[in-house]
Amino acid sequence: MIETNDFDLENRIVAPELIKADTTDDVDLNLRPKTLDEYIGQEKVKENLKIYIEAAKKRGDTLDHVLLYGPPGLGKTTLSGIIAHEMGVNFRVTSGPAIEKPGDLAALLTNLQEGDVLFIDEIHRLSRAIEEVLYPALEDFALDIIIGKGPSARSIRIDLNKFTLVGATTRAGQLTSPLRDRFGVIERLELYSKEELCDIIMRSSVILGVACDKEGAYELASRSRGTPRIANRFLKRVRDYADIMGNGKVTKEIVKIALDRMEVDNLGLDGLDRRLLTMMIKGYNGGPVGLETLASAIGEEAVTIEDVCEPYLMQLGFISRTPRGRCATDLAYKHLGLLKDGQTTL
Ligand code: ADP
Repeated sequence: MIETNDFDLENRIVAPELIKADTTDDVDLNLRPKTLDEYIGQEKVKENLKIYIEAAKKRGDTLDHVLLYGPPGLGKTTLSGIIAHEMGVNFRVTSGPAIEKPGDLAALLTNLQEGDVLFIDEIHRLSRAIEEVLYPALEDFALDIIIGKGPSARSIRIDLNKFTLVGATTRAGQLTSPLRDRFGVIERLELYSKEELCDIIMRSSVILGVACDKEGAYELASRSRGTPRIANRFLKRVRDYADIMGNGKVTKEIVKIALDRMEVDNLGLDGLDRRLLTMMIKGYNGGPVGLETLASAIGEEAVTIEDVCEPYLMQLGFISRTPRGRCATDLAYKHLGLLKDGQTTL
């Protein structure tokens, strides 16, 4: 397998965030499940939401504000759309970085109709000033607006329609506690099992009109890092290989050829993951090593390592986090074929 150090992170094939390749067609919209029953996995979250949604509908009330957190690409946006669909209300989408001024948020809020779902992605990136506007909106469905400047300034209160805020974040820990406290429902999304990803791949292959056998789907699922967005992206790429190198059918062999060429190994690790683990092992004797030190050693941002590489490497049991830093486990050594002294076993 060829290792590249030259990393185009924006287009990293195993990136759990949206990359350019995901948005070249609007098929993605069709791949998104529209109802809770169509949404595969996350059983606990689904069960809870089902109850909250039914109860709110029975009371003729809006749903409490919901915070969804977990690594990117696990279906937070999709689930929010489903909440709106199940409640039978409009779905409005924005993100923390897109709301630059308090006025932007005020405009969004005053345009909401009764019961609407407002989805704010990356809600941890809202500025303090904007959070201040959000508090009365979430609690009393009202906006406090200051008119004028200096001593003649006065505050007026505008009533809003009742709405449900669904906030999504990859880092719940970065939310200020006054904001976190205003969510009645807080749910964590987990990485998906191979079986669940297999079901997602089979469902997507039907929608995309791609022939895919069970073994092919399972091989793809094994390499998709527990993340539906990556599974769907791989399926689209592997389809190209199947068309050109096979008879159009996605099989285990075709998946292996395609993903090996994309430098994604049998567990879904790519060059960046391997570089990270190799640096821990060869550069720091397996750890413990601090996040920032590790990030600068491999020339990557600490947030990328924390949000993108670590959740999956920890799920695999390749990395453990200790108070003194990150450690590579025996499993990581074994997967990379390295001995404790950093020598290769081969
Ligand atoms: P997030 O908002 O957490 O980054 P998205 O909601 O955008 O993730 O989901 C990424 C893609 O994965 C979507 O296009 C959707 O098709 C697919 N997806 C996510 N969760 C599921 C699921 N539970 N079942 C089927 N497909 C899913």
